[in-house]
Amino acid sequence: RRQKGIPNNRRLWVLACMDERLPVEQALGIREGDAHIFRNAGGLVTDDAIRSALLTTQFFGTREIIIVNHTECGMMTATGDALAGLLRERGIDVDNVPVDPALPDWKLPKGTFGRWIKTFTDVDEVSARQVELLRSSPLIPKDVTIHSYIWEVENRRLRPPHQRLSERVNTAAQMGTGR
Ligand code: ZN
Repeated sequence: RRQKGIPNNRRLWVLACMDERLPVEQALGIREGDAHIFRNAGGLVTDDAIRSALLTTQFFGTREIIIVNHTECGMMTATGDALAGLLRERGIDVDNVPVDPALPDWKLPKGTFGRWIKTFTDVDEVSARQVELLRSSPLIPKDVTIHSYIWEVENRRLRPPHQRLSERVNTAAQMGTGR
């Protein structure tokens, strides 16, 4: 397919959280061959998400991007600084560590590890924000359609940000993390 320049069936790139409770294909009603799917912790726009999105939109014929975040996401359970502290306790020097082993010269500026790891408190806000981040990237073509949705693990349904379906939907506060 790729050698013939044929894009995926739906000309679609999906960015989704890696969480095992989020069945991406089922949630979106897509099948093998329909989309390029990128998953990471949180379903967040990171440097490698941008790298993959630019390749699929600039060179592989993708015309639409869908971001899927979800309630009860593990990225709401601690702050970035708290995670950095835990890693320091394990003897990892988070202020002087290559984040990409293939590019050992690339180090995070001191004190930015907590921001780099990207935790959040409000899944609706963060989901809408990921759309803005991709739209503002000079590496993504301006005519690509970009939307985000939230998978409610409480009722296994997909919905747009800020259109809550379940009575009880977990936020960082409800997870008892005291953030
Ligand atoms: Zn998650």
